[in-house]
Amino acid sequence: MADRPGIGTRAVHTPPAPTPAQAPLGLAVWRTAAWAFGSAQEYSDLLNGRMAGYSYSRIANPTTDAFGTAVASLEDVTGEALGWACASGMAAVTTTIIALAGGGHVVAPREVYGGTYGLLDVLGPRLGLTVSWVDARDPDAVAAAVTPDTRLVWGEVLANPTIAVADLPALAAVAHAAGVPLAVDATFASPVVCRPLEHGVDVVVHSATKYLGGHGDVTAGVVVARPELLHEIATVGITMGPSLSPDDAFLAHRGLATLPLRVRQQCATATALAAALAEHPAVVKVEHPSLPGTADHDLARKLFDDGLYGAMLTVTVPGGTDGAAAYCDAAGLALIASSLGSHHTKLTPVATTTHRQLSAEALARAGIAGGAVRISCGLEDTEDVVADLVGALRAVSR
Ligand code: PLP
Repeated sequence: MADRPGIGTRAVHTPPAPTPAQAPLGLAVWRTAAWAFGSAQEYSDLLNGRMAGYSYSRIANPTTDAFGTAVASLEDVTGEALGWACASGMAAVTTTIIALAGGGHVVAPREVYGGTYGLLDVLGPRLGLTVSWVDARDPDAVAAAVTPDTRLVWGEVLANPTIAVADLPALAAVAHAAGVPLAVDATFASPVVCRPLEHGVDVVVHSATKYLGGHGDVTAGVVVARPELLHEIATVGITMGPSLSPDDAFLAHRGLATLPLRVRQQCATATALAAALAEHPAVVKVEHPSLPGTADHDLARKLFDDGLYGAMLTVTVPGGTDGAAAYCDAAGLALIASSLGSHHTKLTPVATTTHRQLSAEALARAGIAGGAVRISCGLEDTEDVVADLVGALRAVSR
C-alpha cells in the first residue's frame, strides 16, 4: 500500500478527462486558470513565443478566444481581422484607448457614451490623456481638432441618445490624413447592421453585454482590428487584466447564432415604432435613422445593410423630465431599465438617468430635451410594442 498515493493525492490528481476525437457542436467551456506543461522547456518556449498554446487564462483561454474570433468573423468577412474578448464593454473601450492613445491626445465626439466620457474626462488626466470634444458630424471640426499629439480619433456608429449616424468614411479620411487610427464603438449598431471595418475604420469595440450576448445575462466586451493593432491592444489588456471568464464567454458566444435573427426583428420593430410615434400629435421629436428626409437617413442607407436602421430610437415627449417619467410609467410591456439590446423592450428617461451628470447647458448643447426617452426595442411582437408605446402617450397628451 505504501507505493499507492494517498486519497488526498488521488483526489487532486484525478484521471484525465477524455479528449473527444469528434468536434462538439456546443462550445467547450475551458474552466481553468492554468494549463500544465510536459516539461520546463515547453513552459518557457510557450511564454517566449516559440510555441503556440495556452498557459494562463488572464493571458488567453480557448473559450474566450472562440468568442473574440467569432465576433471578428462577423465584423470582417475577409478573415484578416482578429478579436480580443474582455470582461465588459468598458474594458474594451478603456484598453483600446490606453493602448493606442495613452499619454497622448484623443479627438472624440461630444455625444459619447457616458462611461467613455468618464474615462476620457475624469480619469484621462491621470493617464496622461488629453481630449478635444467635437461635433463628430462635422469632419472639418474633427480635422481642426487634430494636434501634433493626437494619437487616436474616437467615434460611435450610432450616438447615444440622439441615434446620430457617424460618417465613418469621412472620419477615417481625417484620422488617416493625421496618421492615426480611427476606433469606433459599434455597440448600438451590431455587425448585422453595419461593419465599420468595411468603411475604413481601424478598430471596432462592442459592449457584448448588449446585442451580441442579446439576453441580458452576461457582461462582456470585445475589440476587433487587424492583427498588428489588435496585438497592441490585447498586450495592454493582458497587463491590465480585464479578462473575460470562460463561462461568460460561453454565454456571449451562444448569443451570436441568433444575432442576425434577433437584430433584424428588433430593427423592424424600431422602424415601425418610429413611424407610429412620429405621426402622433403629442410627440415633440423622434430620432431614428429610418425616418426619411434627414442626413442620418441618407448616411444609414449608405453605410448600413439594406432596410436596417438599428433598433434604438429616442422619442421626446412634452412636459420635460416629468413628462418623460410619466410616459415611462404609463408603459406596460416595456420595462424601465438600464442597458439595451436584449430581448426585453426597455425605456430610459435620458436626462434623469444615463445623462444625469450633464448640466442643463450641456444637455441643450447635445440636443437632449428633458422629455427624451430612449427606447431599446426587444423581441416582443412588433404590434404589441407599438401599441404599448403609442398607448403610453396618453400620459402626456393634452
Ligand atoms: N458602449 C456603449 C455604447 C454602451 O451603451 C455601453 C453600456 O451601456 C458601453 C459601451 C459599456 O458597456 P459595459 O456596460 O458592457 O461595460
